[in-house]
Amino acid sequence: MNAVLNTPHPRTTAEWQAADSAHYLHPFTDFKGLASKGSRVITRADNIYLWDSEGKKILDAMSGLWCVNVGYGRQELIDAATRQLKELPFYNSFFQTATPPAIELAELLAEVTPPQFQHVFYSGSGSEGNDTVVRMVRRYWDVLGQPQRKVIISRKNAYHGSTMAGASLGGMSGMHEQGGLPIPDIVHIEQPFWFELGRDMSRDAFGLKAAGLLEAKILELGAERVAAFIGEPIQGAGGVIVPPDTYWPEIQRICDKYGILLVSDEVITGFGRTGQWFGCERMGSKPDLMTFAKGVTSGYIPLGGVMVGERIARVLIDQGGEFNHGYTYSGHPVACAVAIANIRLIQREGLVERVREDVGPYLAQRFAEFAEHPLVGEVQTCGLMGALQLVKDKASGATFDGALEVGMVCRGHCFGNGLIMRAVGDRMIIAPPLVITRAQIDEMAGLIRRCLDLTLADVKARGWM
Ligand SMILES: *Cc1c(COP(=O)(O)O)cnc(C)c1O
Repeated sequence: MNAVLNTPHPRTTAEWQAADSAHYLHPFTDFKGLASKGSRVITRADNIYLWDSEGKKILDAMSGLWCVNVGYGRQELIDAATRQLKELPFYNSFFQTATPPAIELAELLAEVTPPQFQHVFYSGSGSEGNDTVVRMVRRYWDVLGQPQRKVIISRKNAYHGSTMAGASLGGMSGMHEQGGLPIPDIVHIEQPFWFELGRDMSRDAFGLKAAGLLEAKILELGAERVAAFIGEPIQGAGGVIVPPDTYWPEIQRICDKYGILLVSDEVITGFGRTGQWFGCERMGSKPDLMTFAKGVTSGYIPLGGVMVGERIARVLIDQGGEFNHGYTYSGHPVACAVAIANIRLIQREGLVERVREDVGPYLAQRFAEFAEHPLVGEVQTCGLMGALQLVKDKASGATFDGALEVGMVCRGHCFGNGLIMRAVGDRMIIAPPLVITRAQIDEMAGLIRRCLDLTLADVKARGWM
């Protein structure tokens, strides 16, 4: 038995699927529904392409799950992990100890993040990072003698992970319904989703209005009770929702006015995705805390953490005493070694500038062409994130009945045509690896066009449009 485990292609697809449904409960999955049709088994990858157990090649326009920023198969990352596994595969940082990769990565993160960040707290994932955020924000106000400042304000349709605190900060009602969430003292305001909520006004006016909901909530709660506001610079899992340009500067102004902490969840928008190192730089905010994960290692190995701004770090260091929080894998040396190699690679290949000046604008240009398509009501891109809103009526922007699951029909065509594009309701989204070339963007755009056309034909055939 052991001899066949983990060897290349020892089983047929049907055998993989049978073992999968017999033993493996997948995340965010209807277990029974999946078992009835079987998983697609991905067996290898290179650059921006995946191959499945049938040998079919697929263009991965989602970078795995928003994380494989430098593309698959990068030898520098493989070598860094191998070297570190041999040298020191694990040691913790609990017992007044540290390892060279964890120290060097902390130094490097202080270099590539905005100047207010000189310290990092490591976790194993983005969700854990946001648990740390909740602990740290509340601890900060405790140390300052304001323990009543506990409330963290977030947004509906935000995604901040799937632990108890992460899912509570998130604004996904389906997640709150399962498990008695949110935990106390986390509240949500409406999201800055212009297409859904603001089409009766200009984008800029709507951005100010959406940000103004933060001030209204602070006043409703009493400013003396509010600890922090958290948001993704661009909502990712919520559907690649790029807020109006006016939104983040106004959020910053309101946080400053009431002295509340600003937390930027950069798990997707960090490490070059938007054409800046971090999304807050693109959006014009100056956060006190920044959650990261995903792109920090390009997903080759799990790592997450929180960048801690000097405003908070000085209080916790100078007056805080012991901070009773941490993870076995905080500062895991192999993960940190891979992160260092990944960041060095991003720097050496100029990937951030490449997204900002070359492939980002080119993606925007190719995506703009989809605005003509009869199914598409809105096109948005920022750096190498993109969204196409599918609509029933282009003129009015009327959307399909959600129960028809038109987005899933489109996603089915994408799978069938060798493209991974994700559906969030009827919003089709992409976030390809930052190494994607112009020619590959053309290839991707061709596949997207074909899938939109196939979806349009289906929708018409079924009389939905
Ligand atoms: C993915 C994600 C998380 C959660 O990260 P995990 O590593 O899955 O725990 C948190 N915030 C944002 C914005 C994310 O996209």
